[in-house]
Formats: sequence, C-alpha cells, structure tokens
Amino acid sequence: MVRQEPAKLLSPSSNLGVAFFIINTKHKSKYMDNIELKRFWEKVKEEYVGILPESVHPWIYSLEVSGYDKGVLTVVTGQAMARDWLRKYHSEQMNKTLKTITKNEAACIHIIYDENEARKMKKEVEKIHKKELELQQKEQAIENLSYMQSSSNLNLKYKFENFVVGENNKFAHSAALAVAKNPAQKYNPLFIYGKAGLGKTHLMQAIGHYTIFNNPKAKVKYTKTDDYINDFISNSRKSNDYVENMAKFNKKYTNIDIILIDDIQFIESKERTMERMQHTFDTLYNKGKQIVITSDRIPEEIPKLTDALKTRFEWGLMVELIPPEIETRIKILKNLAQNCGIEAEQAALKYIAENYDKNVRELEGAFTKVCAFAEMSEQKITLNLAQQILKCKPAEAVSFDSVAKITAEYLNVDVDDIKGTSRNQKVVKARQLIFYLCRELTNQSFESIGEYFNKKHTTAMYGHEQVKNKINASQELSNAVREIKQALKVIR
Ligand code: ADP
Ligand code: MG
Repeated sequence: MVRQEPAKLLSPSSNLGVAFFIINTKHKSKYMDNIELKRFWEKVKEEYVGILPESVHPWIYSLEVSGYDKGVLTVVTGQAMARDWLRKYHSEQMNKTLKTITKNEAACIHIIYDENEARKMKKEVEKIHKKELELQQKEQAIENLSYMQSSSNLNLKYKFENFVVGENNKFAHSAALAVAKNPAQKYNPLFIYGKAGLGKTHLMQAIGHYTIFNNPKAKVKYTKTDDYINDFISNSRKSNDYVENMAKFNKKYTNIDIILIDDIQFIESKERTMERMQHTFDTLYNKGKQIVITSDRIPEEIPKLTDALKTRFEWGLMVELIPPEIETRIKILKNLAQNCGIEAEQAALKYIAENYDKNVRELEGAFTKVCAFAEMSEQKITLNLAQQILKCKPAEAVSFDSVAKITAEYLNVDVDDIKGTSRNQKVVKARQLIFYLCRELTNQSFESIGEYFNKKHTTAMYGHEQVKNKINASQELSNAVREIKQALKVIR
C-alpha cells in the first residue's frame, strides 16, 4: 500500500466532513496509516452511496480500499461485474466526488478486480448461505415440532422446564426424566399416581415433549382414558366391518413409540374396554415401546380393575405425587409471576402459598385471580391485594401435642414414651417423625421442640434430618407423613 502525505490529501477547509483526516503533522507520521486510510474510504463510500443509485450500493459496499497514491484511490472488488459496471456507468460521478472531497483535480478512483478478494467473497457468501440454510432448517424444525406436539395432543406448557421440582415430587420427576431419556428401558410402564391437581398430567406430557424434541421421528401419543373409551365404543358400534374398524383402532394406539394414558381410573368397570386396553398394553410392551399411565389412585383401588391390568400396571415403577411443601409452592408462584411478567411481593406469594397447600391447580387459580386484579388496576401483586381478593381464613394452628398424639396413634406407640427415654426402635422412629412434623408444620425452633419432648435440640435436629433424608426414597414414610398431615387437617 502506498502512503500519502495527509496535509496534501485533504484541506482543513473541506466542508464535506472529512477534515477529520487531516493529521497534525507536527506530532504524527506524515503518512496516512491503515486506520486513517480506512476512515477516509468510509467517508468517500458514504458520499458515493449518497449520489449513486441504490441498485449499485451493494457493489459499493463490497469494495475494499487498497491505497491512495497521488490522487489515485485504488479499491478492490471480488466481482468482475461490479468493476465493469461501475467503471462504465459511474466512474465520472465517482471521480467528481473524489475531486471535491480531496480538493485535488487529478483525483480519480481505480477499481480493480482481485481473485483473492473474489475467493474471500465467495467464502463469505457461502458462509451467509450456510447460516441462512441453518436458520431455515431450525425454523422448519420448530414448525415440525409444534405440529408434532399439537398432533400428539400435548399442551405446550407441560414441559420439564416448567415443572418445579420439590421434595414432594423429586422422585416422580426423576423417574419421568429417566423414562424420557431412556424409554422402555428401566421403568415400563411408569405409573404416576396422586390426587387431582398435583402435576400428573404435566409430568406425563413433559415426557412426550422431551421425546419429540430429542427425537423428532418418535411417535408420541397422549390420550385421556375417557377418549380411549369413547373411541373404542364408537368403533365397535359402527355398523360396517367390525374387524376392519378394530384393526384401525389397534393401529392408532399401537403404531407408536410412547403412549401416555391419562387418568386410567376412569376405565373402572368397563370390561370390554379393559380387554382392549390389555391388548393395547401387550402389543406395545412386546414391541419394546414405552407406556406411561396416570391415575388418581393406585391400581389396587380402581374398582373392578381386572387382575390382568392390575398386574400389568404394577409391573414397572409406581411413583406418587403428593402436595408440595411451602417452599415449592412459593417457587411455583414465583415462576408464574415471572412468566406473566408481573411484579409480586414475596409476602403476597407466601400468603397465597400458605393458604393453598393441597392442590397446585387451585394454587395457580388463586394466583391467576390476584394477578388479573393487579393487572386491571395496574399495580403489582401486594400482600394487601392478595388478602383482599382471596380473603383466606387463617389456618388452624398445629400444636406439638396434637402432632405427638396423632403420630403415636398412627405408628401404634405409647405417646408417653415419646417424652421418655425409651430406645425401642419403634419409639425412636416415631420420635424422629414427630420432630420432623413439628418443625415442618409449626416452624418452631429445634430448641423449643427438643425442650417440649425433654430432649436436646441436637436430638430434635437429627431426627428431623433423618426423616427429611429418607422421605423421598421411602414410599412408606411419605405415605405416613401425608396421612398424619391429613389427620391433623393441614392437608386434605
Ligand atoms: P393432575 O394431572 O395431577 O390433576 P396437572 O398436571 O393438570 O395435575 O397440574 C395442575 C396444574 O398445576 C397445571 O397447570 C400444572 O402445570 C401445575 N403444576 C403441577 N405441579 C407443578 C409443578 N411441580 N411445577 C409447576 N407447575 C405445576
Ligand atoms: Mg390430570
């Protein structure tokens, strides 16, 4: 690159805004360096874009400055056509502009074609095309994905990402995730049970979303048991060919990789549908396909469920969902507030969470109600607002005494032994459970719990810890906790 004396190149009086390029020759090199040359070219380019037709702008932008020598500005292009076109139709205008900018009558632009530049450009163009193609493919994949999700009957909200994991659902969540990651490997069928509104459908559909996202070719089918029953009945009643209708029905429910059957308890007493379900189950199971079932109770408690189905449902893994603890409920509300983009006071969320402890659907419903009022009145969710809208009655206080009585009765131990010194294993276990429940339900300190039961605070703390660590892995223990809470009327 040839350098030029800047003082000669530009005059301080230039009214084109390029005086900037005049260098103080006292202190700096008298030559235009690379940066200055680039800046100079940027300004010239700007002028060109201002005077030349829009159709040639892409060519102007593609020009690279190479040097400036004795009024000759050399620029390089990788497009032969740009060189030819600009030279033929626009050189006069370009030179005129350059002369004005530089105040040099001899100034002119020299456009040359450069193969290296052409190669560089080709690479750039290829890179852009590749990016565009990737973007297109990504958009297509997202389109396909939402199509598959809707054709599988999945609710877009029910994904693992939106599922808050807490002590109450840790076990069920990890089982569902394991099934989603490795379908039909370990837990087949996966049977998720629990009372209404605790996230069974959400967790089940999360498996579906996960599968479709990670393996777009997988065929996922979500069906409510009611729909399955109705479909079966209407197919078997059609007056035309029964065999053909049944073949179609079977194909619909067995030509898939994962079936998600929601609320199986509704199959109760429907003998012919149960037979068909058994057939569906066996076909899928034998083909190595994953089956996920939800129910509001264990198979044992579904009236008139055939033994054949009962055993099949119990073959794999059965996991229970129980009401979430306060921390999890607050987390769920926080997520909701965040997703709605509404500001909410911690105290307001705590108030809602404290008063809706049995059912996440009801918890969400209460939040939605408060949220709607807050939005209408353009304010954030405050404790005051939540109290006004929900008007919850304060929950009855739980005493250490009632926890001890009900737990001792449940575990069949003498309540007096709890305060005593007995080291009997049954009593020790009951004591630990009482410490756990007292702490969880009353939020009192370990000191006061220990003192009430004639124990050191470290003993109360240890007992609490023991139960907390075991509760997720032990169905028996979590059942005991739930049933005692029900008896204490802290949950329904
Ligand atoms: P179920 O099928 O057990 O009756 P759902 O799966 O329909 O309950 O859940 C009820 C509502 O509560 C849904 O809107 C669901 O998204 C929400 N929900 C339940 N558990 C959770 C959780 N752990 N995290 C976030 N949302 C939850
Ligand atoms: Mg459900």
